[in-house]
Amino acid sequence: MRAKDLLCPRPEGLYCPPGDFFIDPVRPVKRALITHGHSDHARSGHQAVLATRQTLDIMALRYGEDFAGTTHAAGLGEMTPINGVSVTFHPAGHVLGSAQIAVEHEGIRIVASGDYKRIPDATCQPFEVVPCDVFITEATFGLPVFRHPPDQEEIARLLKSIEQFPERAHLVGAYALGKAQRVMRLIRDAGYDKPIYIHGALAKLSEYYRSQGIDLGVLEPATVEKGGKGEFAGAVVIGPPSAFLDRWARRFPDPVSCFASGWMRIRQRAKQRGVELPLIISDHSDWDELTATILETGAGEVWVTHGREEALVRWCELQGIAAKPLHLVGYEDEGD
Ligand SMILES: [Zn+2]
Repeated sequence: MRAKDLLCPRPEGLYCPPGDFFIDPVRPVKRALITHGHSDHARSGHQAVLATRQTLDIMALRYGEDFAGTTHAAGLGEMTPINGVSVTFHPAGHVLGSAQIAVEHEGIRIVASGDYKRIPDATCQPFEVVPCDVFITEATFGLPVFRHPPDQEEIARLLKSIEQFPERAHLVGAYALGKAQRVMRLIRDAGYDKPIYIHGALAKLSEYYRSQGIDLGVLEPATVEKGGKGEFAGAVVIGPPSAFLDRWARRFPDPVSCFASGWMRIRQRAKQRGVELPLIISDHSDWDELTATILETGAGEVWVTHGREEALVRWCELQGIAAKPLHLVGYEDEGD
């Protein structure tokens, strides 16, 4: 068996012919294996879904209980046979419930990373290196210019700004699944213990994180109807990036616009979005994490997807590792 006969790109997503399943399909299919709950990877309407318990719970929260015909929870590290192909989920360190999927058949093991990061994140299980023959890596930040600073430093800049401008509200844009809860947790770990105000779009997922034992401190709804603007002076308000463009954001007193994203490394992007305080906090690997991980897996071959494929393919070739871009369509991660 050749690797490309075990997993290959199809319009629906990455397909395993002997196992007859797809990984993170973008269209409804008979059997889907899902790496994590971000909306471009986890879609509703599949006949059968295999994913971690937390990813299944997150999909039910986002799409409703009937998001798939049938569901099965995959325990981390537990092998599930599918039509003679061995499938095992391993933590990816990306968001709560996120997993890499190892597919093994006739002596070949391919690991599909999904999205992943290596730096510690108190809101999800750490990435686990899985030795393999072929490693399928994401490349959202697959250029040497992308090196994420320590997240504590970014949060320290936020807290300093709050101290400097006690009369202004700090509005932090953060994706609803993963980034928002990680930012809350980082703020708590930095010693901030006042209530954090949240946009309604974050309520259900943040409550779910708490139910999974992740302490986010006191969260209160950021509703202005009842109180005056002054109520939010000096407050931290977290909402999804989309909310910052609508009327919701104009309720707050002289807001400092902040945005937590790996893209904030690029000044121009921050400027375009009108971000006053860019926070470089990413749930994806930066260049150093990507290259270190490729070496650690010991893979003789690397398939690169989701982003800047060319630079990483070239880097692999210079290391003597066979590599190619894997052209999968339909992914634009909601949680950068
Ligand atoms: Zn993701």
